[in-house]
Amino acid sequence: MLNRVLVCRCWAASQTSRAVDKVDILVKVVRTLLGDIPPGEMGITDCHEHLIRSGGPEIAESQDYLLNDVDKAVQEFDLFVQSGGKAVVAMDPIGCGRDVAAMLEVARRVSGHILLTTGFHRGELYDNRHHWVMTCSVDQVAEMLIAEIEEGLDLHSYNGPIVERVPAKAGLIKAGTSYLKVTEFERRALQAAALAQSATGAPIVTHTGGGTMALEQVEILRGHGADVSKVIVGHMHRNPDPVYNRRVLATGANLGYDTCRFKYYSENFLVSLLLDLVKAGYQRQIVLGHDAGTRGYQKAWGAGVGLDYLLTQFVPRLRSEGMPEDAIDDILVNNPARVFAIEDKSSTCAEEAVHSV
Ligand SMILES: [Zn+2]
Repeated sequence: MLNRVLVCRCWAASQTSRAVDKVDILVKVVRTLLGDIPPGEMGITDCHEHLIRSGGPEIAESQDYLLNDVDKAVQEFDLFVQSGGKAVVAMDPIGCGRDVAAMLEVARRVSGHILLTTGFHRGELYDNRHHWVMTCSVDQVAEMLIAEIEEGLDLHSYNGPIVERVPAKAGLIKAGTSYLKVTEFERRALQAAALAQSATGAPIVTHTGGGTMALEQVEILRGHGADVSKVIVGHMHRNPDPVYNRRVLATGANLGYDTCRFKYYSENFLVSLLLDLVKAGYQRQIVLGHDAGTRGYQKAWGAGVGLDYLLTQFVPRLRSEGMPEDAIDDILVNNPARVFAIEDKSSTCAEEAVHSV
């Protein structure tokens, strides 16, 4: 499955215009901050993380959200690598303290891969009247997301009025909803995310409020053309109801359990839920993360847990409680590699057809 070579859109046209001794191909890649890599190189992946947050509305709530130290981000990433990790998906979107320059510095100094998101968080973190998500058309919003995936991230994270793109590109799209509701801002952001995914193939990773409105998210995304097999519905550990989680999985979407430590519930809830879902046949639709979004979750800032916790504590516990090894491989490696893989539009025609028609 990994590194699969796909026939591209122009293949059909090529048949009519010339002899079919050549086939146009597109290769799937994972879009990291330092460039595209083969999905097979992604390795063990933390699918929801925070390394740098240098501003944004959450910091007004608490200074604990301020993650403004490149050295500490590198230290934290190194802990993850030392415990066997390879790739981290950074989930700070537009308008929430995303710092492209600092993230690029971190990416250059670590020995693993970092993917950075475009898109939006839950609506209450934005001005729901004057923000451009509300004043522009959904198509226009989608164009801005597409540009970050295909042309380059805006150094200023669309804080405006200047847009200054760097060569590094976004590898995914974030969208979010509130606890028990989908606001108009959130609906528009989800719709734009779906349109941007349709255009680019980039995955969508969502924030759910308390693990609610997951089915509504999937419905909105699907309604605007998203491929839900490339959607990770996030924070589902916050709602560890096996029946509800299975209903979301039955849509074909992937679920992200991204706080694999005691917070909303003790860890045994998540361990039981994961064992239950794997037993039910859903091991290909589950990913994990640590979501160390504050200083209080990172050793580099003095906390008792860090980015290594997922692999040094939680996964060994899963293993000790009976999680099959092939399921752990799927959850940590194979599923992220599949979901985060996108078609490399820059790949050129191959002389030799790798594809058998
Ligand atoms: Zn987060």
